[in-house]
Amino acid sequence: MRENVSLKPFNTFGLEAGAKYFEEINNEDEVLNLLHQERFGAMPLLILGGGSNVLFTQDFDGLVLLNRLKGIKILNETDSEILLEVASGEVWHDFVLHAVKNGWSGIENLSLIPGTVGAAPMQNIGAYGVEVKNVIEQVRYLVLDTLQIETLNAAACEFGYRESVFKHDLKGKVFILSVQFRLSKGAFIPQISYGAIQETLAEKQITNPSIQEVSEAVIAIRQSKLPDPAVLGNSGSFFKNPEIPEAQFNELKKKFETLPSYPTTPGFVKIPAGWLIEHAGWKGKRVGETGSHAKQALVLVNYGNAEGYEVKALAFEIIADIQAKFGIRLSPEVNIF
Ligand code: FAD
Ligand code: NAP
Repeated sequence: MRENVSLKPFNTFGLEAGAKYFEEINNEDEVLNLLHQERFGAMPLLILGGGSNVLFTQDFDGLVLLNRLKGIKILNETDSEILLEVASGEVWHDFVLHAVKNGWSGIENLSLIPGTVGAAPMQNIGAYGVEVKNVIEQVRYLVLDTLQIETLNAAACEFGYRESVFKHDLKGKVFILSVQFRLSKGAFIPQISYGAIQETLAEKQITNPSIQEVSEAVIAIRQSKLPDPAVLGNSGSFFKNPEIPEAQFNELKKKFETLPSYPTTPGFVKIPAGWLIEHAGWKGKRVGETGSHAKQALVLVNYGNAEGYEVKALAFEIIADIQAKFGIRLSPEVNIF
């Protein structure tokens, strides 16, 4: 058991925060044995995967479990689909590449999302018109209070737009151990409704893309647009795209003619938070050691020496400004500790 460990290497924002206790978990027995010990069982716990969706604003006065559970098992396979059980500490993008290489489709649009498999159901990761809920069969987890292992099928996970039961009723209460995915082996139907994918494929004169070509297009777009956390600390999109009632959108559109929108739940529209932040004048703006990224306003960055509380302060300043200018309340997507 390591004590007083810096979490800086374990979060993509590159923020300094200490963990009172810290343990890397490589198999399921380790976590059970550890939590059966009275002193750790009663302590605040934080499960950390790739640290790509967290903002540390203070030291963690408890036990951080760094999830490195590995393994991909085939549970069932037919001509048209494959059912897999994937350990939660597998790197998400490695799993995507494994699927692409084997000709299994369903997650190619989710290429290059940082982090672990176990965190994917947390916020129902999504990109380019695909959400991971489309391919999740069930989630298996350890209940931290009782140390019992339970499973939830996809319907019970209450997946929504960057949401799930793991961010609400089960928040901080479970350690996700593995996730079952049902991927397709049948005829490939590419999901290429997003303009950026269409443009990238058109540039390469690809009209009937393979799974690999969609994955490569997504990787190329992401590499050209998003700051690499290894170079500039960040946690991806800091805010969720707000969904507002159609009536409110129609009123706003009278004042802001170019305000974009996308369909979502009936009666509501989805507004790109990046557009709001940019049009409120925050895009590329630096505030001390933090700021909004110059190419993607939705991404808050650490220029090198930011403190977590500074990033949080900037985020809340942006929230207040967007509320004042557009009457829309942004919610952070990143988990703030
Ligand atoms: P962490 O940051 O380690 O943890 C996130 C939360 O989940 C924490 O609350 C943690 O306690 C909890 N948690 C993690 N693992 C477990 C577990 N096994 N059991 C229980 N709780 C757990 N997200 C998208 O949805 N779409 C994107 O396109 C996208 N692009 C990104 C691009 C960049 C450059 C970056 C930095 C981030 C991006 N993200 C995106 C956000 C992030 O990558 C995802 O949310 C990812 O799933 C987080 O995984 P992680 O392992 O790093 O989670
Ligand atoms: P973008 O193409 O600049 O578009 C801005 C927003 O508009 C996106 O967030 C997207 O919402 C929405 N949008 C664009 N085209 C759409 C369409 N055809 N149908 C429905 N909604 C559409 O976005 P971007 O920032 O470069 O990101 C591209 C994709 O990667 C998005 O899906 C985004 O969610 C994902 N991404 C996520 C993170 C993260 O940390 N969560 C970081 C980087 C990229 P959606 O977000 O709902 O898709």
